[in-house]
Amino acid sequence: MNIVTDIKQLRRPTEWVKDNDDIGEVVDNLFKGLKEFKEIYNTLGLAANQLGYNLRIFVMVMTPSPSVCIVNPILHKEKGHQVRSEVCLSLPGVVVKVKRPQQVVIKGLNQNQKPVKYRLRGQRARIACHELDHLVGKLIIDYR
Ligand SMILES: [Zn+2]
Repeated sequence: MNIVTDIKQLRRPTEWVKDNDDIGEVVDNLFKGLKEFKEIYNTLGLAANQLGYNLRIFVMVMTPSPSVCIVNPILHKEKGHQVRSEVCLSLPGVVVKVKRPQQVVIKGLNQNQKPVKYRLRGQRARIACHELDHLVGKLIIDYR
């Protein structure tokens, strides 16, 4: 699967998913991509626009639970902070120290358009925030 590495394209904020949008193929490819890139690069999250889809959707690993898909995610709450080095599949070779919340609550829909709410902390909070950034066109190089 091809990953978008064009900065100009990655800078474009994604569109909110509408009720009648058919996102089946996008979701399938996101999960497929996540599985593929996790095996090769230990990728833990993937945003739809990294695969060229202009939609506000991301997937992330929840090991040992199955990976999740969040449609139209919003950062509902955040608490504390953590600073860690991050890499990005779309920016090969780039490592940036990024300050993120320590805990977040993310609200959105699952792939079946049912409301979901995730309380995440530590690495999971970091992954979700990294992917949320992608969806609004923000990249780790913006934290340098
Ligand atoms: Zn990334």
